Amino acid sequence: MARLDSETLDLVVSTLREYAARELKPEVLLELDRKDEFPMHVLRDLYDPRQIGLHLLFLPEDCGGLGGGAHDIYRVSSVMAEIDLGVATGVLATFLGTDPITVGGTPEQKRTWMGRIANEGLLVAYGATEPQAGSDLAALTTVAVPITEDGRVTAYAISGRKQWISNGGVASVYTVLANAPGGPSWFIVERDTPGFSPGRPEDKHGIRASNTTALFLDNVVVPAEHLVGGVEGRGLAQAQAVFGYTRLMVAAFGLGAGWAALQRAIRYSQQRIQGGGPLAQKQGYTHKLIVPDACWLEASRAYIEWTADRLDAGEPDLATEGAVAKYLATEAGNRAADHAIQAHGGNGYTKEYLVEKIKRDVRITTIYEGTSEIMEWTIARDRWQSHLKTRGAFHAEWAARLDAQAPALNGSGGPTAALALRSLGALLERCRLDRLTRNQHVLFRLGELIAWAEGAAIFAERSVAAPTRAIGLDPAVLQAMARVFARQAAHRVACEGLQWAVGAGQTDPALARTLNVDGVLAAQAGLVEDMDLLARKLNEAFPA
Ligand SMILES: Cc1cc2nc3c(=O)[nH]c(=O)nc-3n(C[C@H](O)[C@H](O)[C@H](O)COP(=O)(O)OP(=O)(O)OC[C@H]3O[C@@H](n4cnc5c(N)ncnc54)[C@H](O)[C@@H]3O)c2cc1C
Repeated sequence: MARLDSETLDLVVSTLREYAARELKPEVLLELDRKDEFPMHVLRDLYDPRQIGLHLLFLPEDCGGLGGGAHDIYRVSSVMAEIDLGVATGVLATFLGTDPITVGGTPEQKRTWMGRIANEGLLVAYGATEPQAGSDLAALTTVAVPITEDGRVTAYAISGRKQWISNGGVASVYTVLANAPGGPSWFIVERDTPGFSPGRPEDKHGIRASNTTALFLDNVVVPAEHLVGGVEGRGLAQAQAVFGYTRLMVAAFGLGAGWAALQRAIRYSQQRIQGGGPLAQKQGYTHKLIVPDACWLEASRAYIEWTADRLDAGEPDLATEGAVAKYLATEAGNRAADHAIQAHGGNGYTKEYLVEKIKRDVRITTIYEGTSEIMEWTIARDRWQSHLKTRGAFHAEWAARLDAQAPALNGSGGPTAALALRSLGALLERCRLDRLTRNQHVLFRLGELIAWAEGAAIFAERSVAAPTRAIGLDPAVLQAMARVFARQAAHRVACEGLQWAVGAGQTDPALARTLNVDGVLAAQAGLVEDMDLLARKLNEAFPA
C-alpha cells in the first residue's frame, strides 16, 4: 500500500488540529456530550475537500482519493482521538464501512463506490454485529435470499437485525454481513432501499458525539452487483482481512485519547500545589499515575508504527500484530485516562476538566472491533501455533535477534526485553508439556503476557532505529521509556507466568529458575532512577 509523503501527512495533521482549535473547543465538545448530539456539520466540514477532505485519505488515488496507507491512517486516527473520540468514531465508521469493499470488492465495485464516497463525501456504516452475534460473528442470523430470473441470480432479499452500528442512523451507504446460501457475505445497501430502517440512537456511556443504532432489514432487495466481490461465502474471511487495518485504527484511538488525558494530568500536576510543592515533583504521584502510563502508551505506539509500516510494505497476514497493537494501546489508553481522573483529584471527577469525558469515551476502545478478551485469545492462539510450528523456538529466536543487536539496544532495554521473550518461550513450553492451556484463563493470560513481551521487544528496537516523530519526545527519552517498559514486561512474564502456571497445577520446583525469575528481578536495578528521569522529562515536554 502507498503512503503519503511526510509533508502531506504533516499538513493533514496540522489542518485537522487548526480546525479543532477553531471549531471544537472544550466547551463545544462538552455540550455535544451533554446533549448526546451527532455533529453532522463537523463531519461535513471534515469531509469537505476545500477544508480537510479527511475521507479522501483512505481512498485510492484512481478513485479520487489521496491513497494514504496504514501509517497515515494511524496518525490521523490518533490525532482525531486526541480531539474527540466520538467524532473520530463517526469518521472511522466510514473507513470501516468501506473496508469490505477495499479488501474484497471487484474492480468495478471499488470504482463505483469509492468514487461516490470520494466525490459525494458519503457517510458509510459497517453492519456486522447482531444482538446474538457479537464476539462470535459466525452466529449471525441475518439472511440474504437469492432472487433468480431465468436461472440467474439477479438480486438478494436481505432480512435480519444489526446491533450497535456506528453511523447507523446517519449513513447513506451500509455494508451489511448476511448469510447467503454460499455462506456469510457482505452486501452494499443504500439507506433509501425499501424495507431498511435504522433504530433510535443508543444512550451511551461515552462517545456520545457518535451515532450508534440498530439496523432493521425487512426483505431489503439489493441487486446482485451489490454482493461484495461477486462471490458468496467470503464474508468472514473479508471481515478478518479488514481487522488487520481497523484494529490498528482503534489502537490509534486508544493511544490518542490516552495521551490527551495524560497530557492534561501532566500539565495539571505542575500547577497543583499540595504538601508544600507541585504534584509534578512528587514521586508517589508521578511514578504511579503518570510515568508508567506514558511508557505503556509509547510501547503501544512503537508496536502500531511497526505493524503499520509492515502493512504499507505489502506484508499480508498481520492480524495477530493488529490484535497486539489494539490490545496494548486500548488497555493503555483506558488506564491512562482512569489515572488522569485520579491525578486531578476531585476536579477530575467533574466535567470541566474533560478527563472524566475522555475516560468515558476511551472505554469503548477495549470493546469495539473485538474486545480485549477476544484480543487475548487471538494473540495466544496465533502465537501458540507459532510456538508449536517452531518447536518452541519462536520467542527464543526473537530474543537472540535482540541480543545480536547489542550494544546498540543496551540503552533501550533490549537485553531486558530479550529476558522477557526467553522467559515467555519457556513458559509457553511448560504450558504445552503440562497441557495448562486447557484452562481458558491460562490461555488468555498468555495472550496478555505475549503482548507485553513483544511490545517491549519492538519498543527497544524502534526507540533506537526508528524513534517516532509523532509525539515530539527526544529519542533518549523514548529509550528510557523502553527500559522501564521492558523491566515491567519481563517482571510480568516471569512472575505472573509463574503464578498462573502454579495456579493451574504445575508443580515443578525448578520452574522459577526455568523462567529466570532471578535474572528478571536483577534487571529491575535502576528502575526508580529511570522513572525519576522520565517524570522530569515529561514535565519539560508538556509544560503547563
Ligand atoms: C458504541 C459502539 C459502537 C459499535 N460500532 C459497531 C459498528 O460500527 N459495526 C459493528 O458491526 N459493530 C459495532 N459495535 C459492536 C462491537 O464490535 C461489539 O459490541 C463487540 O464486538 C462485542 O460484542 P458484544 O457486544 O456482543 O459482546 P459479547 O460478545 O457478548 O461479549 C461480552 C463479554 O464476554 C466476553 N466474551 C465473548 N466471547 C467470549 C469467549 N468465547 N470467551 C470468553 N469471553 C468472551 C467479551 O470479551 C466481553 O467481555 C459497536 C459497539 C458499540 C458499543
